[in-house]
Amino acid sequence: MTDRFSREYAQSLDQQDELASFRSRFVVEDPGLIYLDGNSLGRLPKATVDLMRNVTEHQWGGRLIRSWNEGWIEAPARIGNKIGQLLGAQPGEITIADSTTVNLYKLALAALRAQPGRHKIITDDLNFPSDLYALQGICALLGPEYHVQVVSSPDGIHGPVDTLAAAIDDDTALVTLSHVVFKSAYTYDMAAITELAHCQGALLLWDLSHAAGSVDMNLGRAHTDLAIGCTYKYLNGGPGAPAFLYVRQDLQPLLTNPIQGWMGQANMFDFGLHYARAEGLSHFLTGTPPILSTLAIEPGIELLLEAGMAQLRKKSLQQTAYFIELYDRELASLGFSLNTPRDGDLRGSHISLGHPDAWRIDQALINDMQVLPDFRKPDNIRFGITPLYTSFEEIYEAVMCTKRVVEEQLHLHYSQENAKVT
Ligand SMILES: *Cc1c(COP(=O)(O)O)cnc(C)c1O
Repeated sequence: MTDRFSREYAQSLDQQDELASFRSRFVVEDPGLIYLDGNSLGRLPKATVDLMRNVTEHQWGGRLIRSWNEGWIEAPARIGNKIGQLLGAQPGEITIADSTTVNLYKLALAALRAQPGRHKIITDDLNFPSDLYALQGICALLGPEYHVQVVSSPDGIHGPVDTLAAAIDDDTALVTLSHVVFKSAYTYDMAAITELAHCQGALLLWDLSHAAGSVDMNLGRAHTDLAIGCTYKYLNGGPGAPAFLYVRQDLQPLLTNPIQGWMGQANMFDFGLHYARAEGLSHFLTGTPPILSTLAIEPGIELLLEAGMAQLRKKSLQQTAYFIELYDRELASLGFSLNTPRDGDLRGSHISLGHPDAWRIDQALINDMQVLPDFRKPDNIRFGITPLYTSFEEIYEAVMCTKRVVEEQLHLHYSQENAKVT
């Protein structure tokens, strides 16, 4: 039998992998580069390159303004519905719109205004800071009786489930959390936490940025109220691609978009002078959607639908478990700590390793080893595993390169100074 810790074993896992052929559907300019940052910026699907040529040359270049009636105006809803298929939402519950942070602002403020008499928003200290900034802005707008309670994780890795349960009370309007948290990849039980909020009459807003396309979820079955998320991470929509928002069907008439604009107006081409909200989810749109970057999202979603979320999740769990097995053997004794849950049910699709010299090791991996993870302060190296295109051999190679950097002290050649984008 092949030694589990050999390169040949990694290669044999790739040979058995039923999703292996999806890698060839992406642009891979440099096959030597081990790209483990699909959790920050997904790779470029080949179909997106062809689509963008058509969209610019034919639709924009040739059809010009007529294209609005030839697929552009419906694009946010159409692509939103495809994301809905991935996430277990009904048609008409997800639309593409704005950025994740702006969508959080819209939905959180709408949720607070829908529940007068409740003044508290609860989140945790594992959440993405931009989310907290938006929530703090909402409280400043609504007045001094409103506040954000930030519940602390016991160890910086796991979600504070018990403390959260105790904090949610009858003054709580909204609980908002990242389903998969950005540093440790800890993953909340969506249905259980939603139920906790509902028991106290609060709404729950999930940030799905690190979860969409990485974990298998069903928004409908979990009775999810509200959600937002990125399209440029595991959905491969492209840098700065617009985000998505989800509002459960029965909540749509009860919530009001606080940033009103003509894209959410009932009959926008009547140009009436008073706002009359459109029915359904389009009411949550504000201004003209960025069509080029909206259309660029669609081919990536189609690849995920073709592969199937259940199969992708299965491979992701197998790959992150394989990474941890290699970590235990090759890296644990070199000053690293595993900052991601070992329990697969609690784990998204990236692995965080802590090390006192994480920044410099990250630099050595990128510059000397052709391995591209990312770095999150104070001491985390994140290895994003994207089952659509990450191979087992790449995981093997990344761990062995990390070992080599530390054993040969290659990181000592780098400065402690952080770059602008890490
Ligand atoms: C990446 C990420 C975002 C990004 O927000 P933008 O407004 O799109 O820049 C938000 N929330 C979480 C949890 C993220 O991981």
